[in-house]
Amino acid sequence: MIFDLITIFPEFFGGPFDCGILRRAREQGLIDIRVHDLRAFTSDKHRTVDDRPFGGGEGMVLKPEPVFAAVESLFGGAEPPPDAEVILLSAQGKLLTHSLAEQLAKRKRLVLICGRYEGVDERVAAHLATLELSIGDYVLTGGELPAAVVVDVVTRLLPETLGCDLSAVEESFTTHPRAQISAGGILDCPHYTRPADFRGHAVPEVLLSGHHEEVARWRRRAALEKTLRNRPDLLDRAPLSDADRAWLEEVKKK
Ligand code: SAM
Repeated sequence: MIFDLITIFPEFFGGPFDCGILRRAREQGLIDIRVHDLRAFTSDKHRTVDDRPFGGGEGMVLKPEPVFAAVESLFGGAEPPPDAEVILLSAQGKLLTHSLAEQLAKRKRLVLICGRYEGVDERVAAHLATLELSIGDYVLTGGELPAAVVVDVVTRLLPETLGCDLSAVEESFTTHPRAQISAGGILDCPHYTRPADFRGHAVPEVLLSGHHEEVARWRRRAALEKTLRNRPDLLDRAPLSDADRAWLEEVKKK
């Protein structure tokens, strides 16, 4: 997987990809992160990337010419191939979800255009980007953090990236057919480690029992309970079993 990050702040990315799983994925050649300075694609002596908005108003807008030139340079002037996605990070974009990340992880190359200021000239969204993507309903100062989020979430979904194959199966929002605890796209269950008693807060007994079936049942129930508490919207679209529903009814009565 190649990630091309187009930004006016290339120095932003000196760090986030240099530790943990991302660093290992880079060292193993599973991912290749290429950072491109948008200013390198300007043609004036001031290397201008922004201008005032037509119609007036506050702030500056990133100009279309350098953004188009930067993306076109990656594909030798040709159209991006079907296995590439040209993504404009934008608060006005489609919301990034786990299932959208799974789709992106099937591509071979992701180009991530980081906006700044008031945003990017709309012709980039309309005529260059294949996807306008938001990481949440809030406004950040720039697209660099969102781009780093995309690199992170997509990388850990690539086969071979995580040391243990199962780590990407049993986790919140998963649609993996082998998932049991969070099957149906609900939240993951709570996790505990030693000490069994921390400041009087004891770990649930069943987790110390060594009884695998009981542990699995507790985990599914705990995942359902946590989802009900924190993200009830996920339960509306989760295909739940009769046992799941019965447990949720019990929790609601508590
Ligand atoms: N005027 C824009 C609006 O209200 O939608 C906000 C522009 S924001 C200050 C500057 C840049 O940050 C955007 O062009 C985009 O690249 C990035 N950005 C901000 N919030 C984002 C979000 N939630 N998801 C993805 N990118 C975001």
